[in-house]
Amino acid sequence: MTVEIVNPATGLVVYRHELLPADEVEQRLAAAATAFPLWAASSLQERGSVLRAIAAQLRTRKDDLQRAMTSEMGKLKVEALAEVEKCAQACDYYADHAADYLKPQLIDTEAQRSYVRYEPIGCVFAVMPWNFPIWQVFRFLAPAFMAGNVAVLKHASNVPQCADLILAVCRDGGLPEGVFDVLHINNEQAAEVLRDKRVKAVTLTGSERAGRSIAANAGDQLKKCVMELGGSDAFVVLDDADLEKAVAAAVKSRFDNSGQTCIAAKRFIVVDAIADAFVEKFVAAAAQRVYGDPQDEKTTLAPMARADLREELHKQVQSSIAKGAKLLLGGEPVAGTHAGYPATILDLVVPGMPAYEEELFGPVAAILRVRDEDEALRVANDTTFGLGGSVWSGDPVRGEAMAKRLECGAAFVNAIVKSDVRLPFGGSKRSGFGRELADHGIHEFMNIKTVYVA
Ligand code: NAP
Repeated sequence: MTVEIVNPATGLVVYRHELLPADEVEQRLAAAATAFPLWAASSLQERGSVLRAIAAQLRTRKDDLQRAMTSEMGKLKVEALAEVEKCAQACDYYADHAADYLKPQLIDTEAQRSYVRYEPIGCVFAVMPWNFPIWQVFRFLAPAFMAGNVAVLKHASNVPQCADLILAVCRDGGLPEGVFDVLHINNEQAAEVLRDKRVKAVTLTGSERAGRSIAANAGDQLKKCVMELGGSDAFVVLDDADLEKAVAAAVKSRFDNSGQTCIAAKRFIVVDAIADAFVEKFVAAAAQRVYGDPQDEKTTLAPMARADLREELHKQVQSSIAKGAKLLLGGEPVAGTHAGYPATILDLVVPGMPAYEEELFGPVAAILRVRDEDEALRVANDTTFGLGGSVWSGDPVRGEAMAKRLECGAAFVNAIVKSDVRLPFGGSKRSGFGRELADHGIHEFMNIKTVYVA
């Protein structure tokens, strides 16, 4: 079957490719199984030098990677280049820190010696999304390689060239054959791969819908899974917040990557005392984000990744307005574009509206006005999601007290929620389970083995 990739900025087909036939999927899984024992037996030093060489390849090929991201999913040039550098840094980081994360942990018991050691488990299946098409893959791959695991990737179907470039960068960095491969397959084939005995675990970054399906298949096979799913992060603005700072952060968090970020602030929960002032400044600042060609460095708002995603988002906006939300900015697809959607702000968002209950995966901000701090906390937690959240207050102690009570995997005070290789990343509630990055990330796909010598 041929898959066509449409450039979301132009609406033109930029690439066509075939899905992988079953015999080629089989060959790649067999190669992964053959590669695993050798890779697992290599030293951390050897694996670290390969990872550093991959980081160098990423930097050398940053322009190719940027162009692929921009043409396949519409990312702004400047954001795409920053994404490549972030991946290179993650590779360097794990090359530097894996020895520390993986050293045996001695534990005092009545035994002569008892300790925990970390052992690789084999081939991990990675199912990844298009929104950060290089970063999402490397934040899994860098620790996986250092752990001694091997991996096969099913990337989102709209970013095949990104997937192929990731493979090229890994091979050119000296990664042995079979340690990593790309499978251009559909979701039915993905279910088959997950059933394969040579595949030991699966990691998904994607929507709740994909999470339910893949986690159910993993459960059926009793295979470990990590789920990095959707979010609807709260951005709580308290009455003593520095409004200039909060507004600048709100615009960046909501509209970078055309709003298609799992940890973007999506629900702006503002207390009545400062709500009018915040909203006025927020609307003025968001209006400066202007849609344009993502390859042009002056553009400040990228297209959405696909026309169908824009349609879905627009329905959520229209339905929220029909239920009483007040449109303050944007609200109609950018005329004459394939997937352009303007910076949009909805005020007076309340329960029952899609903007309150669902994830808005695009450049649309929902304002939820609340009486006071207590109501802000209740509303922030009144969601099925639990990925991240931020609190904005002139008093960091007050902000931190609320941050501790947010039901989510990452709570930030006076800062935008972001991923950082040094800190664990992952969700609670329906945003998923398991952690990536830091030491937690590298241990997810390892056998944490107890050794006891009496
Ligand atoms: P998606 O539609 O769920 O796709 C993600 C990946 O899963 C793609 O490779 C997709 O393949 C695959 N997939 C979907 N259904 C599947 C199934 N039944 N079986 C096997 N594979 C399946 O999500 P998306 O639209 O690419 O990404 C947006 C979502 O990801 C948002 O909800 C966002 O919040 C979330 N996200 C979460 C994080 C996080 O770290 N928590 C990070 C980024 C994004 P096809 O493309 O072939 O369908």
